[in-house]
Amino acid sequence: MADYRDLRISVIGAGMGGLASALCFARKGFKHIDVYETASNLGFVGAGIQLAPNMLRILDRLGCWEGSQLQREATTVRETKIVDGPTNSELVQVDLSDVEDKYGYPHCTGHRASLAGGLYEACQKEPAVTFHFATSLVRIDSFGPGRPKITVKAREGDDKTLETDVLIGADGIKSVSRYAMLRELKIDAEVEDTGQAAYRIMLDRDKMEPFPELLALLDAKCAMRWIGEKRHIVAYPISGHTIYNISTCQPDTNFAATTNASYTTKGDKTAMKKVYDDFCPLVQQMLDMVPDGEVCEWRLRSHEPLSQWTLGSVALLGDACHPTLPHMAQGAAMAIEDAAVLAEVVSLTPGGGSDPEALAKSLRVYELLRKETTWMRVEMAAYSGRTLHLGEGKAKEERNKQFAMAREKGAPVPDKWASPEVQQAIYSHDCMKEAVQKFPELYNSLT
Ligand SMILES: Cc1cc2nc3c(=O)[nH]c(=O)nc-3n(C[C@H](O)[C@H](O)[C@H](O)COP(=O)(O)OP(=O)(O)OC[C@H]3O[C@@H](n4cnc5c(N)ncnc54)[C@H](O)[C@@H]3O)c2cc1C
Repeated sequence: MADYRDLRISVIGAGMGGLASALCFARKGFKHIDVYETASNLGFVGAGIQLAPNMLRILDRLGCWEGSQLQREATTVRETKIVDGPTNSELVQVDLSDVEDKYGYPHCTGHRASLAGGLYEACQKEPAVTFHFATSLVRIDSFGPGRPKITVKAREGDDKTLETDVLIGADGIKSVSRYAMLRELKIDAEVEDTGQAAYRIMLDRDKMEPFPELLALLDAKCAMRWIGEKRHIVAYPISGHTIYNISTCQPDTNFAATTNASYTTKGDKTAMKKVYDDFCPLVQQMLDMVPDGEVCEWRLRSHEPLSQWTLGSVALLGDACHPTLPHMAQGAAMAIEDAAVLAEVVSLTPGGGSDPEALAKSLRVYELLRKETTWMRVEMAAYSGRTLHLGEGKAKEERNKQFAMAREKGAPVPDKWASPEVQQAIYSHDCMKEAVQKFPELYNSLT
């Protein structure tokens, strides 16, 4: 019988999903894993990221959490506060100190570079993984029958056509793999602008230190949200409380450029300050501290749910198939979960994957396992955006009443990210265990 470890796995993109894919397959014993990345290096934006327990569970299994630099620097978030932006008055406080007891892992915040760097370093220790930086997927020449054929191009080289056993399109929102698959399937699902854009800024400790109120924010184990009409700001400490990470969301009236490969679209500080000029003095003070030229801005994009994520032995993952607004802080977590589930199902393929049809069926099992849970989170992120961004009127009054009831009587929190019920559903979900348990039944259910 063929051995699944001999299958050739090609990954397009070295973002969170692509790096996690390479590592998950390597840890399953696959011996030939190639990662093609357009950028000439990892090139991650200097920004923070929330590390939810469902992400940490997988990172830990990959050896990228316990004892890692990411863990050493991470802030364990013990509470979250939602505050009215203009008045700075607290709408609700949610205690998160029992998250680790409940789900086995805490809710943390960290630096993107440490997360990506940790995954990358672990990949580099795996002889099975080869990175091809400055190399792009140009097209998918064949989805089968038989092995997928692709054309890649190195920046300084000619087109090269390759065959692989499994192709993973982890190439983000502007995915060439997705376009190729949709074209082949004659499905129309264009990327949509959400009409929203984000600014991302980071404040160093030495800037905040002279101001006790700001220092208290930096030293707290708290994720803050200041909310206002059509806008909100999320902020939390990262890198051992040496950096305060601030991320905003507002209407895209300044026509933010879409992200480039290195995620460094420059934003205008004056324009940013204008968007939040009715927010409280504390917020104004923080936005004021950002050096000119250190504001990143990008357009937030999504698309209609895709009816299909796999075709033959080609599978999409992460933002390539379920981009999301950031309000649930689950985009990277979902991409990493996708990667872990893919490695599980491919390794479980009957016959060791020697039959491309069996491989294609395994990829469909991956899609069945992932589609509903990811789509629910994408929908919840959109819902939270609508709820947080309400303007004056009945709906806002009702929302604030719900916040008050949550504060006083423990009723459900209208912001889905901060809702203990929603956290329970997402954080307790062990996608790898589920994949192993459900694989035989789902596989056999497919014709
Ligand atoms: C403001 C904001 C805040 C967020 N906060 C959080 C958070 O707190 N927690 C969380 O879990 N998620 C968060 N996210 C979401 C998260 O960043 C993304 O969902 C996640 O990074 C997606 O990973 P990915 O690997 O699918 O795609 P990407 O990270 O976009 O990676 C795709 C990679 O593919 C490469 N590529 C593209 N085309 C090609 C090609 N043709 N050939 C070769 N390579 C190619 C790109 O260069 C890139 O490196 C946030 C997102 C935003 C916008």
